[in-house]
Parts: sequence; C-alpha cells; structure tokens
Amino acid sequence: MKRISRPDYAPEYAYGVCISAIVDEEERNRMMAAIGDVRDTAVDFIERAIAGSTFELPPLIAGRGEDPIVVADIRKSELVKLYEYYMVQRPLGRKIYDSILLAAEDNCPTCGGIGRPRSLDHYLPKANYPKLSVLPHNLIPACRDCNTDKGNPLFTQPHEQLIHPYFDQACFFDQAWIIATVTHTQPCAITYEASPPGAWRPVDHQRAVNHFDFFDIAKRYSIKAAEELSVLVDQRRSLMRDLPAESFKAYLHSIGDSSTLFPNHWRKVMYKALALDEWFCNSQL
Ligand SMILES: [Zn+2]
Repeated sequence: MKRISRPDYAPEYAYGVCISAIVDEEERNRMMAAIGDVRDTAVDFIERAIAGSTFELPPLIAGRGEDPIVVADIRKSELVKLYEYYMVQRPLGRKIYDSILLAAEDNCPTCGGIGRPRSLDHYLPKANYPKLSVLPHNLIPACRDCNTDKGNPLFTQPHEQLIHPYFDQACFFDQAWIIATVTHTQPCAITYEASPPGAWRPVDHQRAVNHFDFFDIAKRYSIKAAEELSVLVDQRRSLMRDLPAESFKAYLHSIGDSSTLFPNHWRKVMYKALALDEWFCNSQL
C-alpha cells in the first residue's frame, strides 16, 4: 500500500532487450515477430491496471506437462524463460530488473515497508499471463515474506484484486485506512485492522481488506509495533518519567502526525492510536 513510481519503459522495451540476448538467430527472429502482439497485450494490461480491471484478463490455464502455444508459434515455456533466464540472469535484462528493484529503495510497497525488496514479483503470474512475463509494469519489487506468501493466485473478481503500487487509485496510498488499537494489558500491545473510510466504493473497501488479509499485515504490523512499544515504554519509565501526561501525549502526536511516513505506515498508525489513548498516556505503565 505504498505508492512507487511506475517503471519508465515503453511497453515492448524489455521484451526487445531480452530477446536481443538470444544467440540463435532463427529463434531470436521468431520471438521478435511477436513483439507487436506482446506490446498490444502490455498496453491493454496497463490500461486495465489503471482502471482496476485486470481481473477481466483471461488467464492461460495449462495442465501439468502441457506447454501451449501462446502467440504466433511461441510456447509458454519460451516466454517464461525470457524472464527466468534472459531477464534475471543475462546482463542486459538484469539491468532492467535491477533498476525496477532499486526504484522501491528500502520499502516493500506491498506490505508498506515492513520488509526490504529482495526480488521482483509478477502482479499477474507469468505461468498464466506469459506475454506479460518481462513487462516492467507487471513486475513489482517485493520483500521475501510478500513474495513467498503470495504464490500464484488467480483473482477473478474485482474485489479480490491486490493493490497495484504503480497504477492503483490514490485513495489506497493517500488516505488512512489502517487503524490501530492499544490493548490495555500488561504488557500492552498494538493490534491493527483494515478500516477504509465509509465514503469508499464497496469494491475498493473490499480490495483494501483483501490485500490486508492476504499479506497477513495485521500480524506483521503488530510484531513491528511490539518491538517499538517495548522501547517506548522503557523510555517512559526512565528518560520521560517526569514528563506530564499532556507532554507525553504531544510527543506521541508529533510522531503520529509526521509527514515523513505515509498514511498507513505501521509506525504512524501506532503513534496516532497511542496519542489518542487516555489509558496509555495517563497510566504508570
Ligand atoms: Zn513486503
């Protein structure tokens, strides 16, 4: 749920670059003959990603051991290899791969920066959408947990679609839709839930909740918050022991209101909840 800039490549660029590394001239020419079709598919995907309708794109469903022809005389395995070998392992393709990965800096856009991006993940799986296998706009930097947990699901309903960090609507990134609650326990803890604003369209509401649940963000945010909370409680008991409750509350607000963190960052949401929690601000902890 963190926005990142969309890759600045023409839709057919990476396909052409990866193909250029194929040594066999006949194979290279055969793959190049499909570049117009691949470009059209890419343009359609990008338009649908902006409109939130990639769920309408029909997936290729192949049985075990089957390797169907996807476009012209090119088979699925050849398009998958274009990614796995020519993009991931060969220098020209790898340059594109690395530039997409580095654009996310240290924050995985899918989980809101809990993890650091380690690899690229296909928004629509390459096994089912092989013509999109090397399209940069279908490749999203992902941390290990987000990539491992995701697998290759097929979403066929509008409300199931995961949030796309390059193209999706601003509300997912600019509005607060994750909230935290302070448990009044010893030690206290922070729990998170997805709670989009009531003004959102039902389909967007469902998409946010689905994304939140799919990537297990409640649990992963809570684990990060527990580490931070234990340090904060220690500080309240020592360095900030003599600070009046109102000043402590103002301190919590200053972090919760900080503009350096995006609206649904686990830390921002946590501090906003703490600042509003009278029990936390006033108790002896
Ligand atoms: Zn992640």
